Amino acid sequence: MGAYSSEFLEALKPFAGDVAGAVFAMHGSMSAETELDPEGYLLEESRKILGEEIPIVYTQDIHGVTTAKMLKHADGVAVYHTYPHVDFADTGARAARQLLRMLNDGVKPVIVRVPIPALVRGNQLITETGLFGNQVSYLKKLHDDPRILNAGFQIGNPFTDVPELCSQVLVVTDNDEAFGREVALKTANEFWNNRFAMHADLVPLEESVAKACKMKGPVMFTDAADAPSSGASGDSNAIVAEMIRQKYSRTVLAPIVDASAVVRAVEKGIDGRITVKLGGNLDRRFTPIEVKATVVSVSDGTFPLEKWPSIEHAGPTAVLQSENITFVVFSRPINLVDRAPFYANGLDPKKFHSIIVKSPFCEPEFFDDWCEINLNVDAPGSTSADLPSLGHTICARPMFPLDEGVEFNPEPQVYSRG
Ligand SMILES: [Zn+2]
Repeated sequence: MGAYSSEFLEALKPFAGDVAGAVFAMHGSMSAETELDPEGYLLEESRKILGEEIPIVYTQDIHGVTTAKMLKHADGVAVYHTYPHVDFADTGARAARQLLRMLNDGVKPVIVRVPIPALVRGNQLITETGLFGNQVSYLKKLHDDPRILNAGFQIGNPFTDVPELCSQVLVVTDNDEAFGREVALKTANEFWNNRFAMHADLVPLEESVAKACKMKGPVMFTDAADAPSSGASGDSNAIVAEMIRQKYSRTVLAPIVDASAVVRAVEKGIDGRITVKLGGNLDRRFTPIEVKATVVSVSDGTFPLEKWPSIEHAGPTAVLQSENITFVVFSRPINLVDRAPFYANGLDPKKFHSIIVKSPFCEPEFFDDWCEINLNVDAPGSTSADLPSLGHTICARPMFPLDEGVEFNPEPQVYSRG
């Protein structure tokens, strides 16, 4: 497991025998080359260090993959109730409340988990407006019932191919398995019945470019297949390559990750002319495209995002102008979920006809509100919403929509450390 895990576990050791309980803030979709359940491993090892007696609760993203190993070594789990995620602090508070109820009131957690053989994407997952929001708000309301310690839903992360990848309901009750089963099964069945509606509507790449060139604009090209916030490399040039192929003449703002191109730009300096091969350095499914460009600006690539409480560190960053296309070239993949990566480099996306956005979802005010259309492009990529195109080999099968005719025979799993 290497450096990260030993650093983490070493840091925990001084607390052995000295803490009454612990909350671990995890994501749940971490992957590692030699361990298919890295976060389960960390919880297992943490349990060994901190002891069997103390309560441990962990938090996870809606896109996390809770595993049997995690539930074996923890007393509870709190999952975000929002997508897009805005309840980070609230989720931590729910985990802490369970911990306090265990320490102060002696509640006895019984966890019911119902795995669902389905992977889903698209706007119906938006909790405020989509079908999935009904299941989440039901689970959220359950927290008013003193029998419920935590209740959440994970849709997994289709891009992390691990044995227990699935969607799942997780209900933590105070020693009430029957109630946990009842509410978890009800929620799981409702979700399963909506599965066909929960997919992204994608526009073929060639069609998206052909359509946009005739539009007044601005046009937003959503390239969710190469979203670094979903785990992609950010070095897809697929949309730009199609634009060049179709001799697209409108102004284009295109973010891309390419460290070697930035090195060349920094060497030449502002106003310098360079020829670089752009894209496809990290993800070999993309073919680098040769670009002749002028170096417009160079920056250190450090900036805060617009809404998320996060500082991005893109490393040295260059703006390159190649005819009608303005490339913002980063050294490292970063969250490209808002306009901050453009603003930080002196670029206003409103001044372009076409903007490539590498995120499956952005707050409406960032782009949608002032764009004529948001084309959700069916480009290739490691985070494509065309899930069968990803080529899963490890997750349990059959799995909707990777396989035909998948059936759902719910099998609740019960975990209790009491
Ligand atoms: Zn997420």
